[in-house]
Amino acid sequence: MIKFYVLTFMLTAFIMLVCTVYISTKHAIRQNKLNISIIQLLSVGIITCLAYSHAISVPNELAAEWGYALYFAGIDWILITFLFYARQYTRVWLENYAAPLITTSIAVLDNISLFFNYKWHHAYYLEKRYLGDEWFYDFKIHDYYVVHLVFCYILVILILLILTKKTVATSGFHRNRYLSILIMFTGIILLNILYVFFDYPVDVSICLYAIASIFVGYYTLLYNPKTFVEYMLSTITERMECALISFDENDFCIYSNQLANRMFCPSGDKKLLEQRFKMWRAGKETNSISNTSWNDVYNLNGDEYRFDVHFNKIYDKKGYYCGCYLSFYDVTGDFIAYEEEKYRSSHDSLTGALNRESFYEEVQRLLEENSEIEYVMVCSNIKGFKLINDMFGVEEADRLLIRAADLIREKLTPSAAFARLEADRFAVLMPKNHYSEELFMTGMNQVSNFLNNAQYRMVILLGVYDIYDRHAPVVSMCDGAFLAIDSIKDSFKNTIAYYGDMLRHEYMSEQKIIGEFEDALQMGQFAMFLQPVVTTDGRMTICEALVRWIHPERGIIAPASFIPLLERTGYIYKLDLYMWEQAAKRLAYWSSLGHDELSISVNISVKDFYYMDIYETLVSLVEKYNIEPDRLKLEITETVFMTEKERQIDIISSLKEYGFLVEIDDFGSGYSSLNMLKEVPADILKMDMAFLTMDKNAPRGRKIVNTIITLAKALGMMVIIEGVETEDQLNYLKGTGADYLQGYYFNKPLPVRKFEEIYL
Ligand code: C2E
Ligand code: CA
Ligand code: CA
Repeated sequence: MIKFYVLTFMLTAFIMLVCTVYISTKHAIRQNKLNISIIQLLSVGIITCLAYSHAISVPNELAAEWGYALYFAGIDWILITFLFYARQYTRVWLENYAAPLITTSIAVLDNISLFFNYKWHHAYYLEKRYLGDEWFYDFKIHDYYVVHLVFCYILVILILLILTKKTVATSGFHRNRYLSILIMFTGIILLNILYVFFDYPVDVSICLYAIASIFVGYYTLLYNPKTFVEYMLSTITERMECALISFDENDFCIYSNQLANRMFCPSGDKKLLEQRFKMWRAGKETNSISNTSWNDVYNLNGDEYRFDVHFNKIYDKKGYYCGCYLSFYDVTGDFIAYEEEKYRSSHDSLTGALNRESFYEEVQRLLEENSEIEYVMVCSNIKGFKLINDMFGVEEADRLLIRAADLIREKLTPSAAFARLEADRFAVLMPKNHYSEELFMTGMNQVSNFLNNAQYRMVILLGVYDIYDRHAPVVSMCDGAFLAIDSIKDSFKNTIAYYGDMLRHEYMSEQKIIGEFEDALQMGQFAMFLQPVVTTDGRMTICEALVRWIHPERGIIAPASFIPLLERTGYIYKLDLYMWEQAAKRLAYWSSLGHDELSISVNISVKDFYYMDIYETLVSLVEKYNIEPDRLKLEITETVFMTEKERQIDIISSLKEYGFLVEIDDFGSGYSSLNMLKEVPADILKMDMAFLTMDKNAPRGRKIVNTIITLAKALGMMVIIEGVETEDQLNYLKGTGADYLQGYYFNKPLPVRKFEEIYL
């Protein structure tokens, strides 16, 4: 009989060992506290089980006594590790750190007391007990055993509380797993109580450990209720932000999530989905390919939606086709955002017209695609738009532009394009047979009336370019139209000008000049001519550097034919840079001949201020050629101060500070001359005779000249009168106090060699 018990316990221990090995190998990857707690529990269980079977089977009393001590101690640890396991598993009271410490300490004390039992027998003593004709050492309890028992039941109560709490407070899906462990644990405890209560000779409740360990291992690590998994998966698919529909091998719809139903079959009739499925697949390679995707637009409840559609087939493990599913991702929002971005980058935000780049592209496209249609390019420019901005404010000016754009849009026909190229410049490409002057005239009058203001009359100018060269760059077509506008820019009423043969010719020759310019500069076709500037008694100390283009075919070209063009196109700075260097070089050469007293005036264009760092350039020039800065005189005109006055004045002040002398050229030709005298710190005032009309107004003109000279002197400036052609003029000027004179009377601008021959 005893042998049978021992065998049962051995079997129990073995089963637990198998469980331990299984869990620790199979779940070793999941090295979490829960695994560890189960392995601890099983290990303690094995030891306890073996200790008990040793105690009841050994014939030696002391050995049996040690066995019991180990068994009782084992019970302590089984409960403690179970408590640890229960907390890990249920996550109840997991944050409590004091309790484990206290229970472990008490267990250690209890263990010590149990091990000293062989000496004091304060907890139990052994007695032979007969089972039929066999006997074994059974234990009888003493007073102190109660302490051990109470401690154990406290642990039991804690475990029961934890498991009960969790069983009550968990979702229906998981209740089973906690309940099973609770029932199993309660069963073992009840059996144990019965054993104690009825004084059954052998504690068979230990055998239940094996079953318990299988339970614990299974429910903790392996069990995942199928219904729960299904529930989770279906909830996930329901909530997914894509519409999901799946079909079986016969194309019957077996599942569709809420979104799919809402979108494709609000009636809930799956047949509808099956029909749609046929449509969706039509023309796609869904038969031959296992997965693919496409983009589609669907009209759902009257709204247009864009979907990114994915099609996937599902095969079983053996490779047989079992069904497929479609997922629809709504990309309508992304698409709209993309379209908006595209619109924003190709349109002018104020008026909604195309911007320059997209207009050029669109024009090119239209010209290419409609080769049978003849086109015209119409460009418009509002006269003095800056002034409108200043007078009426930016908001009003913006409203005006929007209004103008709306009017143009109204008149547009298909296969036309329209853009706001910049500020107040619009461009329209339209079929020639739709163009009429009246059409635009009425539009222009409407827009000008918009700003109806007693003091200001708005003027819109229109340039029309007949596109005869469809393959020319679009920019040159617009240029042509604006060139036409330039020809009427002095008009005071709304006017239309055409880019005719005359303009075309001018434009072509300008294009030619620009095309040739840079090479010509490289090849030294530009020459510096010098014109003397003399004192009233005929001495020459200053001369002005004036450029001439020595063209290999066209001979000497005067600056008037190319300087305005170079200024307009921004190339002027290259030429000026070249001229300044020539002048500086000459000054250095003259110094070497002992002519330190001579100086050269160079011209500075208003555009130079924007295309280079004038200060840097000039300073490095005089340093490079080692000349005194006041020998390189700088001629600027009033136009320099028309825009960004402060910035320009700053630059000039720093040049003056460095030692350069500044001349105001063509004084009197501008509008705000007197004001400028006040603000610009120039050293020399240069006035052209042309402003001093010598006709019937001569007496008045002379008075003005006299006054200006007096004024300049009062401001500490010297005065140069240029354009002196006759002796008469000279005689008059001698009496005015002007310091220097310049003009054909003394000499024309001369090639440098010639100049040097005469004056050095
Ligand atoms: P500007 O600076 O006013 O130069 C004086 C112009 O008057 C020169 O014309 C000169 O030849 C001319 N001139 C001199 N004496 C008389 C005279 O007694 N009667 C008349 N009617 N004209 C006289 P040019 O050389 O044809 O230059 C024209 C303009 O071109 C210059 O006017 C200047 O603004 C510009 N320019 C010339 N060279 C350069 C240059 O290197 N750089 C820049 N930025 N502009 C230059
Ligand atoms: Ca000049
Ligand atoms: Ca001048």
